[in-house]
Amino acid sequence: MPQIPVAVLGATGSVGQRFVSLLDNHPWFKVVALAASDRSVGQSYSKACRWILSEPMPGWAQDMMIVPVTPDAISAKIVFSALPANLAKDIEPEFATAGFAVCSNASSYRREPDIPLLLPEINADHIALIHQQRKQRGWSGCILTNPNCTSTGLTVALKALHNSFGLKRVFVVSLQALSGAGYPGIPSLDIIDNVVPYIGGEEEKVEWEPRKMLGKLIESSIELAEIKFSAHTNRVAVANGHTVCSSVELETSVSPETAIRAMTDYQAPAAARQLPSAPKPVILVRTEADRPQPRLDRMTGKGMTTVVGRVRPDPLFHLKFVVLSHNTIRGAAGGSIYNAELLVQEGLL
Ligand code: NAP
Repeated sequence: MPQIPVAVLGATGSVGQRFVSLLDNHPWFKVVALAASDRSVGQSYSKACRWILSEPMPGWAQDMMIVPVTPDAISAKIVFSALPANLAKDIEPEFATAGFAVCSNASSYRREPDIPLLLPEINADHIALIHQQRKQRGWSGCILTNPNCTSTGLTVALKALHNSFGLKRVFVVSLQALSGAGYPGIPSLDIIDNVVPYIGGEEEKVEWEPRKMLGKLIESSIELAEIKFSAHTNRVAVANGHTVCSSVELETSVSPETAIRAMTDYQAPAAARQLPSAPKPVILVRTEADRPQPRLDRMTGKGMTTVVGRVRPDPLFHLKFVVLSHNTIRGAAGGSIYNAELLVQEGLL
């Protein structure tokens, strides 16, 4: 099949760089434009971008000239948006109106009833909201979103438990990596030798977004899952990989062994199983006493697998465990690319 032309908005940032790296040699997509702010427009990507990944910048990207984030400047079918949320709010609908499929990382449209909030390995069917979206908004393009990077791995693990045993209450404490704050992010003197127990707006996202993704698609809308969440979110001195310590109350009590089997056996819906970015496996449960750890486990399944460990009884609820997910791969760029693959496969482009 001929490659589909795609562009990255916010290509110079923490998530934008991940897009450039993950789209290198993608079997379906070819990057034809990289867009960023006025600060960068007109410069080559290698000049405008302070590359922070350990993988080298792909050769094809180095001399590409940065263009502005306007539909007129870009000739592609899909745009991957890694823009700050305040900008995404106005810019993403402009692209959707102009016929582009916008795969967004920003929080601006996640709560809209007609916009899919997707993790294809758990709620691929929610992509059907695009029909409603196009009808209501008159867009020839569309917007689909991925969740905030802390909700991502957590919700995948919760889906396996919810399917098998039913979830009632979830209490989580996150330890979130620095790359989640973008580049240059938090000043070193604020975070070395320290934990910052506040990330603006994050707790509200972690307490709401999983309810939409675990909710049911009924006709053309999502019924939120009736699960109560409480989240504490913290920034820690880790480069990549968000850790979430989780306690859950289920409909019925189950042993850690039964819960481990449910998570290990969990399969993505058929529509999302064979896509190029599908996580393999969806969930890996580690049995060592001291895993998962960000430095050792974040690249499991090329950074797309959700890694769970320390599954044990909880004296307050039923079970407790630790979830690790790569925030700029599964929690951002890799997730958006997976969403775009689903869109193409479902014939919605
Ligand atoms: P970042 O490192 O600060 O990058 C921001 C990008 O937006 C840069 O390319 C920047 O271009 C561009 N930009 C800034 N102002 C602009 C303007 N006025 N016009 C056009 N482009 C502009 O941020 P990030 O961490 O990559 O996050 C990007 C988005 O993804 C955010 O909405 C964030 O919440 C979301 N997200 C991030 C993560 C994560 O783990 N980091 C995970 C999930 C979702 P210049 O270099 O030219 O300024």
